[in-house]
Amino acid sequence: MDYQVQQRDVEFLLDDVFDVQSAWQQIEAFADLTPDVVEAIVAEGGRVASEVMAPLNQSGDAEGCQWQDGQVTTPNGFASAFSELAQGGWLGLSGNPQFGGQGMPKSLGCLVEEMFWSANSSLYLYGTLTVGACLCIDAHGSHEQKRQYLPKLYSGQWTGAMALTESHAGTDLGIMRTKAEVQSDGSYAITGQKIFITSGEHDMAENIVHLTLARLPDAPLGSKGISLFIVPKFLPNADGSLGQRNGWSSGSLEHKMGIKGSATSVINYDGAKGFLLGEENQGLAAMFTMMNYERLSVGLQGLGAAQLAYQHSASYARERVQGRAPTGPENPEAVADSILVHPDVRRMLLTQRAYAEGCRALGFYVGMQLDLAKYADDAQAQRIGELLTPVVKAFLTDRGLECAVLGQQVLGGHGYVKEWGMEQIVRDARIGQIYEGANGIQAIDLVGRKVVRDGGQTLKELIDEIIATDVDDEFAPSLRDVCKRLTTVTESVVDRSKQDPNLPGAVSVDFLDFVGLTLCAWMWARMASCAPQDEFGAAKRATARYFYARLLPQTLGLERSIGAEADAVMSLPAAAF
Ligand SMILES: Cc1cc2nc3c(=O)[nH]c(=O)nc-3n(C[C@H](O)[C@H](O)[C@H](O)COP(=O)(O)OP(=O)(O)OC[C@H]3O[C@@H](n4cnc5c(N)ncnc54)[C@H](O)[C@@H]3O)c2cc1C
Repeated sequence: MDYQVQQRDVEFLLDDVFDVQSAWQQIEAFADLTPDVVEAIVAEGGRVASEVMAPLNQSGDAEGCQWQDGQVTTPNGFASAFSELAQGGWLGLSGNPQFGGQGMPKSLGCLVEEMFWSANSSLYLYGTLTVGACLCIDAHGSHEQKRQYLPKLYSGQWTGAMALTESHAGTDLGIMRTKAEVQSDGSYAITGQKIFITSGEHDMAENIVHLTLARLPDAPLGSKGISLFIVPKFLPNADGSLGQRNGWSSGSLEHKMGIKGSATSVINYDGAKGFLLGEENQGLAAMFTMMNYERLSVGLQGLGAAQLAYQHSASYARERVQGRAPTGPENPEAVADSILVHPDVRRMLLTQRAYAEGCRALGFYVGMQLDLAKYADDAQAQRIGELLTPVVKAFLTDRGLECAVLGQQVLGGHGYVKEWGMEQIVRDARIGQIYEGANGIQAIDLVGRKVVRDGGQTLKELIDEIIATDVDDEFAPSLRDVCKRLTTVTESVVDRSKQDPNLPGAVSVDFLDFVGLTLCAWMWARMASCAPQDEFGAAKRATARYFYARLLPQTLGLERSIGAEADAVMSLPAAAF
């Protein structure tokens, strides 16, 4: 399936909307990052996405992964494409330069990741798990662990995986059973079974490094009794060469709705050798370093799906002729007009475009908060990054599926059959709403841990920043209005949550959508206000107007539904379901 990188849009975000050259100049670590280097990174990332990864998207889906006697074979071409991705340094783009990473801004990484997700989400999953494992080892590992693992992972010689889920323990990791027993040499013997492990076993790298959660025999009950271990497939020798095969294996592959080129394994640990990462019983907190990264990345997966669906449906709509324009034939010579004359087809295309471009800007903004937090010790950016991580994960993956389904609808029956590739985009996008913490859990995280817990303070700081932004008069009143309503809704949720423990969970999904739409409105006002006076800028302003006229009003309905008490969802007795 073809994929075209949105080069012009990326340049517009970097130069005009976020003026990154001045922003990055303020951060010592990025002071040498010249526009030429940034341009070259974006161009080469785009080339890898469109020329190396995208051509394998449909064939990877058709072939899927195969399992035989514990060995997993990935689709044809995946191994060499992954090796090109890795050799290009893309897995270490934002990695620690001391151990072979390139130390580039996370925000820049967000733009490149979107391209990889659009091009081939199954293939990029092997990459994103590796990047996340690196972050976790870099944040919590000893110097020796970093030296041993990071260079091999950044270079893609080895890949990473994250092993949390068990058949009875998904969202509630506190009840997991996999056990870890300390050995005389200071390592741990890991025993138990994990399910749904992405990239847990495959044939694309010489070693696979699991970051595995397990419980020590005397650990406290619940999530405070979980420790994190590095459990490689082959035990590395001191000189970095591969030693003995470790005691874990893939028991089977899951048969999935989509992302079929991504190998998702059941993993059996039979006394496998594990090395403690961080402190005993502090494993879940350490794992969150990886999970928060993966949440942002999975949000970008949703964005990638929205962009891909838009490209394909817009290109189809340009060619497809059916019916006549309501105002009379536009192309009387032909048997029918292009379906672009129909207002409803335009609604579908503009919705996809407004979400894709708005969410791209939002993802970049959140990436910048993470950069400021990490490299400039900016405490407010740290709080805002934490506040918005669940929003990016859930809002972007929800919109990603919505846009994929809209794209399918633009193609009519051709959207439902395999040849055109649209049904694959729908199947591949669906998982984003489920893994890395289901979207309902993201919404509870936002409302419970990030908003109610600090009395709405961080969200208020963000709303103040939005209101203080200088945007065109055309958008300023509506932007102020939605901010005012979000402030009132937030105060009400914080207040009512004190009276009713069911309230946060009852309103959380609607609240997250309200926040996501407000942030998109902010991004659209900023983009429209600095759009150039040319065709590109005119399209930006028209799409911004569409967003404000047709999508932002959803917040009015959300405001009403968030106003309902928890009783609306809790009054039906459990026995009635
Ligand atoms: C293709 C695929 C790849 C995956 N990759 C990995 C991986 O690499 N590593 C890994 O460890 N796991 C992985 N997973 C597991 C995934 O993260 C979990 O499936 C997900 O977190 C949900 O857990 P669960 O399936 O047990 O659902 P459950 O936890 O049983 O949840 C079921 C439903 O109940 C809701 N729910 C549960 N608890 C609460 C609560 N407290 N409050 C409100 N609602 C609640 C959920 O939102 C959900 O809608 C993968 C899964 C799939 C399908």
